[in-house]
Amino acid sequence: MKKLLTIAGSDSIGGAGIQADIKTFSALGCYGMSVITAVTAQNTAAVLDSQDISPVMIQKQLEAVFEDVPPDGVKVGMVSVPETIKVIAAALKKYQPPVIVIDPVMVSKSGFHLLRPDAVSAMKKYFLPLGAVLTPNIPEAEILCDRKIVSHRDMEIAAEQLYAMGAHSVVIKGGHFQGDADDLIFDGKEKIWLPGKRIETKNTHGTGCTISSAIAAYMAKGDRVIEAVRKAKEYVTGAIEHAIEMGSGCGPTNHFY
Ligand code: PLP
Repeated sequence: MKKLLTIAGSDSIGGAGIQADIKTFSALGCYGMSVITAVTAQNTAAVLDSQDISPVMIQKQLEAVFEDVPPDGVKVGMVSVPETIKVIAAALKKYQPPVIVIDPVMVSKSGFHLLRPDAVSAMKKYFLPLGAVLTPNIPEAEILCDRKIVSHRDMEIAAEQLYAMGAHSVVIKGGHFQGDADDLIFDGKEKIWLPGKRIETKNTHGTGCTISSAIAAYMAKGDRVIEAVRKAKEYVTGAIEHAIEMGSGCGPTNHFY
């Protein structure tokens, strides 16, 4: 069984973050492990508060996992502050896991800043050169590239820009556009569009966490990036179609359907 590690924040309502990642790993037949970077007090309606785990404790969790059970793939999610980003980047450089997927999580759907705005430059400096698969949504790609994205062509330019900054591959998710949710993959050679029909639902809490974890799991199981993203998109589309009507806000995607 492949062993997958998520390095991310905890979501108390269980729809996003560490909880979504581990559910995804399990649903795809993998063993899930976690390094927790922050604890959020959160439900389907809002992120009420967030407390960062200290960089020392994050480092200890990383060592505990990597020194005993080296993961076949790593997914990185919420990282909050520059110190956290530095500790994680150093560990990934040292242990060189075979698959790294970085979801540059910035702001929750409800508008809470999960990444401190002053940490964007640390993310660019320390994460982009790691040669990871990068999975920004449109607003995240706009911030990382410092340009507006309003068309498919803009997405292609942003993907080239992020690849040039050191990413192994770039997956820009088109779900924030009006209309169809077409995603773009750029692996440095080909640009491949994955068309996606918009599913009319408010229950999309944790979709970004889910697709990035699924990409890491499929790659750890041996798929190349394009095939892994195709399968992960299919998986998350099913999870959105079967999302759970729960709570007063955005219900979670359903990992076991
Ligand atoms: N909470 C945590 C801990 C997360 O990692 C994320 C996204 O990665 C979110 C919340 C945001 O999820 P959403 O934008 O689906 O509300």
